[in-house]
Amino acid sequence: AKADGRGTYRFFETGMDARAQARRLLEMDLRAALQRNEFEVHYQPIRDVATNRVVAFEALLRWSHPQRGLIAPINFIPLAEETGLIIQLGEFVLRSACADAATWPDDIDVAVNLSPVQFKSPNLIASVTAALEEAGLEARRLELEITESVLLQNGEATLTTLHELRAMGVGISLDDFGTGYSSLSYLRSFPFDKIKIDRSFVSELATRADSMAIIRAVTGLGRSLGIVTTAEGVENDAQLELLRREGCTQAQGYLFSKPRPACDVALMLEGPRLR
Ligand code: C2E
Ligand code: CA
Ligand code: CA
Ligand code: CA
Repeated sequence: AKADGRGTYRFFETGMDARAQARRLLEMDLRAALQRNEFEVHYQPIRDVATNRVVAFEALLRWSHPQRGLIAPINFIPLAEETGLIIQLGEFVLRSACADAATWPDDIDVAVNLSPVQFKSPNLIASVTAALEEAGLEARRLELEITESVLLQNGEATLTTLHELRAMGVGISLDDFGTGYSSLSYLRSFPFDKIKIDRSFVSELATRADSMAIIRAVTGLGRSLGIVTTAEGVENDAQLELLRREGCTQAQGYLFSKPRPACDVALMLEGPRLR
């Protein structure tokens, strides 16, 4: 049994080593990719449900890897957060998004995702200000998307930062609503401009009565608190129709378009559907 235990332990160690090594490789790759400008920002339209007009685009980061092709953020953002590289990556996204949005019609906003790690950086306000100034973009056209975990991590400091951003005119959205803990208390701690209802509720809209009830409750909450509600991951007309009936303000999803590179923004503005 002892030999067995040692064997298992050694095997476990080797496994850890392999993982740690894979991590180190990915980290080196990430750093090099930043130097080589392999990151690009894609955009997905967000439409007003009542008018069908595009009101914003969400900026979504992509790694255009020379061998592996386009890599989705789930595969590199966690490590970028652990290593702190997310600060540089986040600044790249902010600058790109503001510069791109400055070329769009001025009634269209740009939404940028912020990592909790970016919130711990004392430079956040300065980098947002710089990105807006460099691009010549009005602050009211920028929306920053944060998740509940940001508020959970460093409450007081985060609230101060959020209030400063708000005072600049930047919009603040609560992303992935419904997936974290005690969501409602966050709506009391900070006056968000927008709630983004997580995709998981939308995808089960037609099949689960409880998802329908949750969507109804959140859109109602938004209405009474004066907060815009955006449904994520809308993939079909049936979902859009139910959302319209519930008075959800905005919708985003593959039904309208997948995220596409900046050069396709005009195309996404033209047609109501683009898959
Ligand atoms: P998120 O902020 O919730 O972004 C929405 C995700 O849902 C995107 O995945 C988008 O492509 C996907 N999506 C949109 N419509 C549909 C649909 O109809 N069906 C389905 N199945 N999916 C849909 P993506 O681009 O892979 O991004 C994943 C997550 O990575 C984002 O989730 C966000 O948390 C993070 N992320 C992306 N870009 C950035 C960034 O620049 N900075 C930071 N910190 N995080 C980012
Ligand atoms: Ca988001
Ligand atoms: Ca705005
Ligand atoms: Ca989301």
